[in-house]
Amino acid sequence: MKANLLIDLSHTIENGLITYKGLPAPIICDFLSREDSKKFYEEGTEFQIGKIEMVSNTGTYIDCPFHRFENGKDLSEVDLERFADLEAVVIRVPHNETIEITEAHLKNYEIRNRAVLIHTGWDEHWNTETYFENNPYLTKKAAEYLRDSSVKLVGIDSHNIDDTRGKSRPVHTTLLEEEILIVEHLCNLYLLPDDVFTFNAVPPKFKGVGTFPVRAFAKLTKK
Ligand SMILES: [Zn+2]
Repeated sequence: MKANLLIDLSHTIENGLITYKGLPAPIICDFLSREDSKKFYEEGTEFQIGKIEMVSNTGTYIDCPFHRFENGKDLSEVDLERFADLEAVVIRVPHNETIEITEAHLKNYEIRNRAVLIHTGWDEHWNTETYFENNPYLTKKAAEYLRDSSVKLVGIDSHNIDDTRGKSRPVHTTLLEEEILIVEHLCNLYLLPDDVFTFNAVPPKFKGVGTFPVRAFAKLTKK
């Protein structure tokens, strides 16, 4: 594979798309339409200014500590280095084999100080009813293993990194309290090599917001 190739790991967000069951879809529309803009400019010059109304958990998104903890760092407070150019590894646990990802699945990988991406293939159900339930998730022990291994970030191509059948969210709690960022709703992880790539998922710099869509991508670093 070619070095410096970029691989897009993000879903497309469009008007009316439901990412998370129970949360509203984004409304994407014109604030200023091309037609209405014409009156401000000379003949042949026109612009569109979009308006978006959405919950912050839309599309492929990143969770910062503030999402879970009132006094945790928000999007504006997490250092840029935590979002970009992270040495990364992909761990493959196909959802048709198991939806419960345990520490046993994570052992025997070099994960320290890396971003760890869990490839389950669940993104094949994106934008269907199947996506929202019985999705792959990590166990609490798996999260503790990742935390104890000092990983930088954990990503997954699933509806939630936690088991949503109960009311606790031990993976979010364990990772975010140690400022280990979480990316959910990734896609296309099958395109990644097992190693030698970097991961990037940079959100805008909002104050008082803990989660936001990202253009997540991998950059292949060696042949
Ligand atoms: Zn989350």
